Amino acid sequence: MSRSVLITGGNRGIGLATARVFAAQGDKVAVTYRSGEPPEGLFGVRCDVTDPAAVKAAVEEVRIQHGPVEVLVSNAGITRDQLLVAMEDEDFRAVMETNFLGAVNVAKEVTTDMVKARWGRMIFMSSMSGMAGAPGQTNYAASKAAMIGFARSLAREVGRRRITVNVVSPGLIETDMVKDVTDARRDFVLGQTALGRAGTAEEVAAVVRFLASDEAAYVTAGVIPVTGGAGVGH
Ligand code: NDP
Repeated sequence: MSRSVLITGGNRGIGLATARVFAAQGDKVAVTYRSGEPPEGLFGVRCDVTDPAAVKAAVEEVRIQHGPVEVLVSNAGITRDQLLVAMEDEDFRAVMETNFLGAVNVAKEVTTDMVKARWGRMIFMSSMSGMAGAPGQTNYAASKAAMIGFARSLAREVGRRRITVNVVSPGLIETDMVKDVTDARRDFVLGQTALGRAGTAEEVAAVVRFLASDEAAYVTAGVIPVTGGAGVGH
């Protein structure tokens, strides 16, 4: 297996764990990064997903280096948590622009090549918050819920071309993103899990790997929870 895989936000956290899994099975992996150096042993393309011109240039760089993107993992994301009444408009906008519109930018840029190839896999990293909601996350939850409607619609546009589009919905996963979560919030979320623990980036990566595989050919427009049992039933 040696497909051209692009992972946004693949320089750390869930994205990096996913990049390592694809690289280990022999895929040609490209990760976006915004500053510093790309991770050791991976092909990095500098890209801020909120900038359509940068996205276009990054996808072109991947096309030249590895061939047209065949597997997209749209993973880049941020949080700017605050209660709505105290939230700066800029923080609401930044989260929507990164998590949702950033994902749209990248998907739009890779779709034509996938349609031409008559094969493709797109996986969008949403969140349990997108369906369950979470206090302080009106911006984040809205961005992650928007992604679900987007992905399910796109799945219906491109399905006849053997392109699948799925959403992964993680719960609490130990990465930089959640290091500032309060103990109370952590206890609340973990209390809702069946497994009684947070997940790892590798446990999310394994699900992404499956969705990108040939074995997952009949899975599309899905929203797959990786939550340890929290937030299911939505
Ligand atoms: P991290 O904060 O560890 O990583 C976030 C990644 O997104 C970084 O690589 C970051 O790049 C990148 N990124 C952020 N903004 C941009 C941008 N504008 N352009 C390009 N890249 C960007 O978080 P996680 O690994 O935990 O999160 C990965 C995804 O999983 C996110 O979409 C998140 O919302 C989602 N998720 C995470 C959960 C968790 O509990 N950890 C739960 C549910 C969903 P840089 O290094 O340049 O900042």
